[in-house]
Amino acid sequence: MKHKLKRTLTSLLPIEEGRQGECNNCGACCRLPFRCIFLKEKEDGKEYCSIYAVRPPNCRKFPRSREEHTLVKDVCGFSFDDKK
Ligand code: SF4
Repeated sequence: MKHKLKRTLTSLLPIEEGRQGECNNCGACCRLPFRCIFLKEKEDGKEYCSIYAVRPPNCRKFPRSREEHTLVKDVCGFSFDDKK
């Protein structure tokens, strides 16, 4: 829950430099720390965000930082360059 609060409070900050890759729609960030109420399931079992067009900045920018990325690094399509 601590991470969720921090993500919300820092969500208007810019995305840290060095992020690369793209979202693979794994949905891991929609479960931090519990399943988002806006995450819905289609009849075919695939999940989707029911407020995608108006999702808040902490979802829109995820992972905004290296720290956030550590929470999903095994499945997330994004990665961060090593700090210089
Ligand atoms: S964890 Fe990363 S790849 Fe998975 S849905 Fe979130 S941003 Fe996309």
